[in-house]
Amino acid sequence: MATPWGARWQRAWAMADQLLFPRICAGCEAFLTDHDRGLVCGTCWARLPRLPVPWCDRCGHPRSGPTSADGSAEAHSGSVCPGCAVLAPFVRAARSLCWVPHPVSSAILAALKYEGWPGVAEAMGERMAGLAWPRDVCAERVAIVPVPLASARRRARGFNQAERLAAAVGRRWAIPVVTGVTRTRVTETQTRLTPGERLANVRRAFEAVPADLPRLVGQHVILVDDVLTTGATLNACAGALFAAGVRTVSYLTFGRARTVADP
Ligand SMILES: [Zn+2]
Ligand SMILES: [Zn+2]
Repeated sequence: MATPWGARWQRAWAMADQLLFPRICAGCEAFLTDHDRGLVCGTCWARLPRLPVPWCDRCGHPRSGPTSADGSAEAHSGSVCPGCAVLAPFVRAARSLCWVPHPVSSAILAALKYEGWPGVAEAMGERMAGLAWPRDVCAERVAIVPVPLASARRRARGFNQAERLAAAVGRRWAIPVVTGVTRTRVTETQTRLTPGERLANVRRAFEAVPADLPRLVGQHVILVDDVLTTGATLNACAGALFAAGVRTVSYLTFGRARTVADP
């Protein structure tokens, strides 16, 4: 236990540290206070554009239809859910925390991916891990597989952001993070491609890792990535896992792009 003098020195040191090296919010660049845990300020987390409830039970996409008395969404009356339309048929469920692009969520993602602040993954993963799932997904999920980054991009960045998010979620769910899939070839960055081009770009770009299969075959696996846009990358990874004998795959991402049907 610190002596009174020790405690005073500790406080003085902390104040000097804050004056000399002030902590800046990764989202808005405001100075962080002692109350802000992690690298993003409370105001930014409060302004995060979370996907509004009620969600589609399967894909986690907000439903615009009428809600029943208990607040859950009524079944779509024959219309195809725009979120489900993005998922490959064998995907059980998907969840995302917030919309992208948006000034706050995009800034947090940029801090994670490009500005060398991978520690922000911890706070992002904490919120992703808190999302509600169908009961069977919670009961069955045995492992988390991060979407792999191309090796050249990983070398340039020094880490895979999906791995950081997966690790933060896995700790909270108390299930292991397994490599599970790797890239078989270099793909172009998806950012500037049309949906059709994205699909062609990632088709057969992934394969299951044989050494990991004994832990995954016949099981329900959660694929984690930073964003869900057209679903092309996640569906290609899920396809590789499914072909290797994984029974069920669900997706978890921090951000989700709006579809044409969203307001
Ligand atoms: Zn902020
Ligand atoms: Zn849906």
